This record gives sequence, structure tokens and C-alpha cells, in this order.
Amino acid sequence: MSDHAAEDIVDLLVIGAGPTGMACAIEAQRAGFTALLVDKGCLCNSLFHYPANMTFFTTPELLEIGNIPFSSPNQKPNRSEALEYYRKVAEHYALDVRQYETVERATGSDGRFLVHTVDRFGRKLEHRARKLVVATGYYDLPNYLGIPGEDLNKVRHYYDEPHPFFDRDVVVIGGKNSAAIAALDLWRHGARVTLVHRGAEMHRHVKYWILPDINNRIKNGEISAYFSSNVTNIAEDEVMLSTPQGPLTLPNHFVFALTGYHPDFDFIEQLGVTLDEENDRVPVCDPATLESNVPGIYLAGVIVAGERTNEIFIENGRFHGQLIAEALRGKLQAA
Ligand SMILES: Cc1cc2nc3c(=O)[nH]c(=O)nc-3n(C[C@H](O)[C@H](O)[C@H](O)COP(=O)(O)OP(=O)(O)OC[C@H]3O[C@@H](n4cnc5c(N)ncnc54)[C@H](O)[C@@H]3O)c2cc1C
Repeated sequence: MSDHAAEDIVDLLVIGAGPTGMACAIEAQRAGFTALLVDKGCLCNSLFHYPANMTFFTTPELLEIGNIPFSSPNQKPNRSEALEYYRKVAEHYALDVRQYETVERATGSDGRFLVHTVDRFGRKLEHRARKLVVATGYYDLPNYLGIPGEDLNKVRHYYDEPHPFFDRDVVVIGGKNSAAIAALDLWRHGARVTLVHRGAEMHRHVKYWILPDINNRIKNGEISAYFSSNVTNIAEDEVMLSTPQGPLTLPNHFVFALTGYHPDFDFIEQLGVTLDEENDRVPVCDPATLESNVPGIYLAGVIVAGERTNEIFIENGRFHGQLIAEALRGKLQAA
């Protein structure tokens, strides 16, 4: 991985060095093209920011990219194994990853794009590319609740690890996997946990091996839960809920609002890509090639499904690179 200030034009510039973006660069290189990845954070920045002790839902072979085997002694790998795997893949393919560079915008057009980035110190950089892939994921932008007190520094939208919450009153908002896993981990490490979910029960997407655990903790009264309920206000020492039994105030030290994330739609639109507002803001693209309505700009990974962030995972997004490489073969070789 190198850090050149200026370079010749690359065939493909991939915005986002997550598993999908890496797969796109690898498949382009395997097809004989030059590729450059740019990420605002580190390699696999989203995975790096997942809960420290998380275990993937997926068996290792379904996380593989570039035909490199992912072996793990565990049935399902954990976060540090996955990070090690993707580092090794990056090394194996000698991927050119510009880390800690945020893509702000792209100018130019198909065949001669100019990608404008900014580094951690505010310095501006530019990269020239014939084609672009946008693989920016969804993990940078939480779905905010929009309630008073959400901006207090005791409110978190990402769960990391349990230790700082020992012997504290913690509210977890949400009813899907992230909320269930965080509530269980916090409770197991000595926090007093209350789960608040607007649905009548835990969401049907909670994994089948997590659901009985959270439901039994709730049934036993080890984790308190309020269903069909909402947090209406967060204050320094308490939270207010609206429940079917009426309003309620609970003592509180920390809140984890784990209510999902969404792609950076402004960024996608700013590139000229149209969002289908009638269809969950799915960006317009050809499903066969993943080329968007802007010639030369391709989409990959979770963003292809717009607001439906539970449709494309690493498991299936990793194949987007092959589709794009195939399309590049037709276009760049013909050029
Ligand atoms: C807790 C958790 C557990 C999960 N477990 C699984 C699982 O077991 N199996 C599975 O298949 N999926 C799982 N997923 C989903 C999976 O991680 C995502 O679907 C996947 O990361 C999407 O890959 P991606 O490459 O599209 O996006 P990401 O991995 O999010 O990568 C996008 C990258 O783009 C970068 N970026 C964003 N904007 C810019 C910009 N303007 N300039 C430069 N860089 C930018 C980000 O820093 C990031 O590195 C899980 C998700 C979560 C939150």
C-alpha cells in the first residue's frame, strides 16, 4: 500500500475499502485493469468499528473474497479474525489503498473522472480514474431518533464493549440483532439493562440462536423490557418512556440507541446518481452491470439496496466485483 501524492490515471477508483470495495478492486486487477481504493478510515473501517467482541453471523467461507480461503477454528469467525483475513487479502493482491482520505466529490465524466479527497489534516488531494465504483456502505450514518436529549454525551449509536457500563443503569433502544446482542453483553458484564422497543416483541430478523437468549433473560426479569414503547426524552439522570401503560421515568446513566444506519444518500446524489424515491431510495443502476444512471459510475455492496440495509451483506455483496469487472472488460477494452 503506497501513499503517492500524484499518479497517472487508474482504470478503476473504488470509493470505500470495505469487503465489497476490496472485492471490486481485486476482480478489476484480476481482469487486467489498474485499481485504486480510497477510504475515509482504515481498511475495512466499518468492521473495525463493530463491537470489539462481535462474532459474525456468517460462516467464514461466505466472507471470502478474491478466492482466498478464510480459515477459522471457530464455526463463525470473530471481528479480529475477519480484520486479519482482509488485511492478508489486501497484502496478497498488493491492493493500493489510500486510507484516511475522504472522497468529497467527483468531477469530469466517463473515461476521465477527477476524484477530490481530503486527508485527516484537511489537505486536498486528487486522483484520476476512468471508472468509479461507489462502495461506501451504511455504517457511518446512524438513524437518529430525533428526541430531546439525544445529543447528550451519554447517548451512543454504536456499541463497543461492556466494561465501562458495569453497575450503571443502561437503556438499549431497538429490537433487532445489534440491540439484542448489546443488551445481553451489557447484562453479562454487570450493567442494569432495560430494553425499549417500539415493536410488540423482538424483531423477526433476530438470529435464531440469539432470540431464545434475549427472550429468556427478559422472561426471568434479568433484563427489563418495554415493548410497544418509545423513549420520548433523555435527561442527564433519567429517561422518559411512553408505554402502553402510560408515561414512565427511569433512572439512567447511559443510552444505546441501536436503531440502524443508512447510506450517505446525499453523497450518492451529489455524484449525479438518481435515487428511486418510490422504492426505498434504491439508486438507479443496471442490475447486470451495476452501472448507475451516470455512465462510468458503478455501485456496489449494501448501498445497491438503498434504505433496505438488510438485503445485501458481505455474503452477497462480495460478488458485485465480478459483475463490475465483467462490465469493465467490455467497456475499457473496447475503448
Ligand atoms: C454488527 C454487524 C454485524 C454484521 N455481521 C455480518 C455477517 O455476519 N455477515 C455478513 O455478511 N454481513 C454482516 N454485517 C453486514 C456487513 O458488515 C455489511 O453489509 C458490509 O460491511 C457491507 O460491506 P460494504 O463493503 O458494502 O460496506 P462497508 O463495509 O461499510 O465499507 C464501506 C467503506 O466505505 C468507506 N467510506 C464511506 N464513505 C466514504 C467516503 N466519502 N470516502 C471514502 N471512504 C468512504 C467507509 O469508511 C467504509 O470502510 C454485519 C453488520 C453489522 C453492523
